[in-house]
Amino acid sequence: MKQGTILSGMRPTGRLHLGHLSVLENWRELMEKYNCYFMVANWHALTTAFDYPKVTVEYTRELVLDWLMVGLDPLKSTIFVQSEVKEHAELHLLLSLITPLSWLERCPTYKDQVQHFREQGRDITTYGFLGYPSLMAADILLYKADVVPVGEDQLPHLEFCREVVRRFHHLYKREVFPEPQAYLPELPLVPGLDGRKMSKSYGNEIPLASNPEEITAKVRMMVTDPERIHATDPGHPDVCTVYAFHRLFSKPVVEDLEKSCKKGEIGCVPCKKRLTSTLIEFLTPYWERRRELERDPDYVWDVLKEGGRRARLKACQTMEEVRAAMGIEI
Ligand code: SF4
Repeated sequence: MKQGTILSGMRPTGRLHLGHLSVLENWRELMEKYNCYFMVANWHALTTAFDYPKVTVEYTRELVLDWLMVGLDPLKSTIFVQSEVKEHAELHLLLSLITPLSWLERCPTYKDQVQHFREQGRDITTYGFLGYPSLMAADILLYKADVVPVGEDQLPHLEFCREVVRRFHHLYKREVFPEPQAYLPELPLVPGLDGRKMSKSYGNEIPLASNPEEITAKVRMMVTDPERIHATDPGHPDVCTVYAFHRLFSKPVVEDLEKSCKKGEIGCVPCKKRLTSTLIEFLTPYWERRRELERDPDYVWDVLKEGGRRARLKACQTMEEVRAAMGIEI
């Protein structure tokens, strides 16, 4: 018996990287306990990628392959593409009608994102982007998700969704949706090659679907202790990105590595080589699984077709209740 329903998603705008791995591992665990809907959020992606929309099509298959490679199981969860369930657009519209503009304007991520894109010379101050939290609320409520895994930065979006639920129930005097609760998993933060948060927009990422040559090249680029000139100089692992990765992926030997670095007993080149081998060994089973999945070019599309069918069933049921509550059935 599953404990409740979860909706979560990712935008198909690029290759997933090591920073996404802990999120996917967490989804894999949640899938065993909850009725999970995992959504390729392609309409969300379009709110910022409207001027190069094809990218969302190109990356949909890659995204789902990464999900499956890490162990998401289409028999234990519903894996689907947002735009294949048109009810997302209908509920988004109906919710937008009851949402005061000020609720959207005060979402802290709106201003941050507008500024972030402006610095890249892009203007995303559109009606669609402002309504992003409303689309997100529609995604969650369509499946009556009672739990939503979020990061701290997404908490205002979830609170927005809860406010919309209360307003809907107040206006139409009928309880249709649960008020979704946040689930804040404690996930390790993976640094990028330069020590900042790993992110495609910083260009400091290590793709999940990679190969030994790419991993070798990426680790070679990692920033180490800048004060260490010679291999025998005592190092400061706490400021070294390579060490941060060893802490995450080389747990059994990390203490010895730290001591050797501090005493100047290990050089950065061999230290990086050890990390390269560890990462390749860790990722190889995922790559093998991905290669197996890629052998059938239809598999991902079959998974999405079945997931879309199941998602649509639930979405249609919810929309019947929504229209009935509003008294707009025709
Ligand atoms: Fe970093 Fe390893 Fe060099 Fe120490 S030896 S500074 S941990 S790369």
